[in-house]
Amino acid sequence: MATVCSNTQESIDKYKDYVNTHINNIKIAYNKYKDILSDVLGVDLKELLERVLNHDKSKWSKEEFEGYRQKFYPVEGDKIDDNAFNDAWFHHLKNNDHHPEYWTYVDDKETNKIQDMPDICIAEMILDWATFSILKNDDKEFLEFWDKNKYIKPISTNTRAKVEKVMDKIKEGNTSWL
Ligand SMILES: [Zn+2]
Repeated sequence: MATVCSNTQESIDKYKDYVNTHINNIKIAYNKYKDILSDVLGVDLKELLERVLNHDKSKWSKEEFEGYRQKFYPVEGDKIDDNAFNDAWFHHLKNNDHHPEYWTYVDDKETNKIQDMPDICIAEMILDWATFSILKNDDKEFLEFWDKNKYIKPISTNTRAKVEKVMDKIKEGNTSWL
């Protein structure tokens, strides 16, 4: 998955491009799926758009940028620092409520606890995943991602049922698959 670069500037440029493409694609996903998200989840589209416009802003922070850059766009000959990547990833999860991990914690008996995600966060999470489909221009891409991950992702039963409803609605709109 990593793309080896010949120097640091190339690595910085490529990683910036990657983040910008992702942020642009989530806007496209919003326009494509917003009606389904408002029908099924009842989310306020003004609020959702506001989130879309601010999506993944923390990726530009000093806590995240370097950790991700050197992992996904390593410079030839440089050793990948997995600890730096993990710190960046952890920072991202703890600061972005569109990730299911944001809604989990481990209690003092070391039991994993999972909270239901608010609907607006579910909507942003689905749009985040939908960017896979925008990249490939194929709705199936993220529906398959969901089918593979629905019991792997740390999400509650209620949250899973809501995501499932949205996915069913998207499938309904693609009758050519049936
Ligand atoms: Zn994110």
